Amino acid sequence: MKPAPFAYARADTLDEALALLAEHGDNARIISGGQSLMATLNMRLSAPAVLVDISRIEGLSGIHDVGNRLKIGAMTRHVDVEKSSLIATTTPLIKKAMGHVAHPAIRNRGTFGGSIAFADPAAELPACAVALRATMHVVGKDGEREVDSEAFFKGLYETAIETGEILTAVSVPKIEEGWKSGFMELARRLGDYAIIGLAVHAEYDGATFGEARLVFFNSGDKPTTVPRTATLLEGQSWSEDLADRLAASLKEELDPPEDLNADGAMRKHLAGVLTKRVLQKIAGE
Ligand code: FAD
Repeated sequence: MKPAPFAYARADTLDEALALLAEHGDNARIISGGQSLMATLNMRLSAPAVLVDISRIEGLSGIHDVGNRLKIGAMTRHVDVEKSSLIATTTPLIKKAMGHVAHPAIRNRGTFGGSIAFADPAAELPACAVALRATMHVVGKDGEREVDSEAFFKGLYETAIETGEILTAVSVPKIEEGWKSGFMELARRLGDYAIIGLAVHAEYDGATFGEARLVFFNSGDKPTTVPRTATLLEGQSWSEDLADRLAASLKEELDPPEDLNADGAMRKHLAGVLTKRVLQKIAGE
């Protein structure tokens, strides 16, 4: 199918983009890498009157070292995040996830901010952002505001970005001494969206777990935290018995959807399998 007719405007500055968004309101849609948006236009799932291209705006790309955090510009392409040594050494969770985000051709064009703003419940990066307690930087006509990752993802493809606003960057904390990250997903083929996946950021002193953030994706309408299950880890060493208790708890705490790939019961089972594999790997590192 072909998209419905639309106008196209390329903004050279953030102010220009904000002015275009203010002028066209709900009829405008931001295009960054276009890897998700063009598919929704071609399938006529959305038919905006104007596309506002933000890809040439200086200052929206790049990975910046700001003290104990990294600030990742929204227009930073997936490939640049994947290949960044700064990401690899300071935010290993994102490094582990990047190779699972689509295919290399898509990672060449798709952007970090586009993934976060699109808020596909099956996407890897929103789950990583929640596991890391990232901060989203959103700019509108009234200036910049910061939104905590859990408040940012509101539901199915729904975020805290309001009409007329642009996500400009995402800040993630650098990993601290005594913390470990783990990531795994189950997909039919590498590069496919996951049937279910798990991002973990946890305190681990080499013997016992402390505070832990377990965030599942494609297990609900947004990245899914499991705080009750996570507390079972506190003060515990890795064991098969612990894995069984976590899997039983996940069956109570998760309520995943059914689709063509798996029903809810299968996803709950797979959540237990992933949790065991990820935590066992963390304990063995
Ligand atoms: P675009 O397509 O340009 O925009 C997506 C949406 O976000 C639009 O609604 C747009 O208006 C909005 N938007 C974009 N940037 C901003 C911003 N800065 N501020 C506010 N709103 C903004 N993704 C995965 O996570 N995992 C996968 O396994 C995966 N597999 C894929 C397989 C295929 C075949 C394809 C085509 C895509 C796949 N994707 C996958 C999606 C891909 O990662 C996209 O790059 C990403 O979802 C969106 O990034 P983009 O820059 O292309 O955004």
